[in-house]
Amino acid sequence: MIRAIRGTRDLLPPDTDLWNRVEAKVRNVFARYNFHEIRTPVFEDTSLFARGVGEETDIVTKEMFTWEDKGRAASEKSHSLTLRPENTAGVVRAYIEHGLDKQGKLQKLYYIGPQFRRERPQKGRYRQFYQIGAEVIGPPSAGSESPARDAEVLEMLATLLDELGLRGWTLQLNSVGCAADRARYNQALREALKPVVHLMCEDCQRRAETNPLRVLDCKVPEDQPIIEKLPKISAYLDDACRKNFAQVRAMLDAVGILYTINERMVRGLDYYTRTTFEFTHGDLGAQGAVLGGGRYDGLSESLDGPKAPGIGFAIGEDRLILALQAEGVVAAESLDAYIAPLGAGMNSHALKLARELRRAGVRCDLGDESFRLKKSFEAAGKSGAHYIVILGENEVQSNEFAVKNLSAGTQESIARDELANYLRR
Ligand code: ATP
Ligand code: MG
Repeated sequence: MIRAIRGTRDLLPPDTDLWNRVEAKVRNVFARYNFHEIRTPVFEDTSLFARGVGEETDIVTKEMFTWEDKGRAASEKSHSLTLRPENTAGVVRAYIEHGLDKQGKLQKLYYIGPQFRRERPQKGRYRQFYQIGAEVIGPPSAGSESPARDAEVLEMLATLLDELGLRGWTLQLNSVGCAADRARYNQALREALKPVVHLMCEDCQRRAETNPLRVLDCKVPEDQPIIEKLPKISAYLDDACRKNFAQVRAMLDAVGILYTINERMVRGLDYYTRTTFEFTHGDLGAQGAVLGGGRYDGLSESLDGPKAPGIGFAIGEDRLILALQAEGVVAAESLDAYIAPLGAGMNSHALKLARELRRAGVRCDLGDESFRLKKSFEAAGKSGAHYIVILGENEVQSNEFAVKNLSAGTQESIARDELANYLRR
C-alpha cells in the first residue's frame, strides 16, 4: 500500500470545514484592512532563498527541498530549484520583478498556501505545512517605514485571532534594531560567549562563531542559564530604533493590545530589522508559535531591488487549527435536510425539489427511490441532516411534505413554497 510521505498529511472532512472557515474569516478580515491576495509559485530559484532568507539560517542550511532541474534540451542549462520554505522572499521577488514600487504606494499583499521544510515531523511540525501571511511593503515616501504600519499589522492580527474565537494567545514583542545595532550586539555576544561557549551544545558552539544572535534561539535546557546571563539587545539599540520601538508600543497600548517583551525572540530569518513578534499559544506544547513576523527593511535591496521597507508575518495555519481545536472549536458544516424519494419514478421529483431548495440556500442531500423508508432514515442519520423530507406520490400531488426533525423526533406537514424557509437554519 502506498502511503502519504512522512511529514505530509491528508486534510479530511470535517477538519477541512474548519480550515475553510478560518480561510474565509482571514479573507474577510484582511479585506477590511485593504490587503489583496498575491499568489507566487511553489518553487523558485534556490538562490532566492539563500539570499532572501539567509545563508546562516536553519531553513537554508538544513531544511530546504532542493533539486537540480535538468534542462530538457541539451542546450538548456540545469538549474537549482527549491520548494518554497516560506513566502516572503517570493513576494518580495514578485514586488521587484513587476516593478510594484513604481506605483508609489504601499502594497498590502496576503497569501495562503503550502510551504515545505525538511524538518523532523511531530505534532504541529510538518514537511508540508500551510501559511497564511501578509506583507506591507513600499517606497519610504509611501510611509512604509512608519511604526504606524507595525502597530496596524499587530492590531489586525489581534482582531483576526479574536474574531476566529481563539482565546489563549500571547503576543511576544521585541526589537532587533537595525543592521548596525545588531553588529554591535553580535560583537558583545561573541565576547560574552567566549568564556562559556565550551559548556554549551554543539549548535551553539557553531552559532557563536557564525551568527551569535542565533544562540538566543537555543532550546537545549542545559544552555538556558548561560543564555539568560548574556547581554540584552535593548541595550544596543540606537536612538532611532529605541524611539521607533517605543512608538509601536505606545500605539498598541492606546488600543489596549497586551504584549510581553521577549528580548530573546530574535526570529529565525536573517532579514528582520526593528520590530519582531510572535503570537504563542499555551496548548501547542513545544510548537508554541502560532505565527511569527517582523520588519525587513533591507530585504528588497539584498535581492537587488529598490529600497522598499516592509513588515509582514506568517501564521502557521496547521498550528492555528490545532490551537482552535484544543479550545474546543469545531466547524462541521451541518446539513439542513435529507430528501428521501419513496417509490418508483420519484428520483426526478426529488431532484427537482432538491434543485429548488438548494437554489434557495438550503443545504440538502438526496436519497434514491430504491431505498426503503428504513434505509432512508438510516442514510439521513449518517448524513448528519437536521430534517428528513419524505417525498412520495401523495406529496407530489398535494405539494405538502412530511418533514421530520431527526433529533427531536417531531414531524410537521409543510407546504412546498414554505419549505425552504422552514428548513434553512
Ligand atoms: P519554529 O521555531 O516553530 O520552527 P519558525 O521560526 O521556523 O518556527 P517561521 O519561519 O517564523 O517559523 O514561520 C511562521 C510560522 O509558521 C511559525 O510560527 C509556525 O506557526 C509555522 N511553521 C513553521 N514551520 C512549520 C512546520 N514545519 N510545520 C508547521 N508549521 C510551521
Ligand atoms: Mg523552524
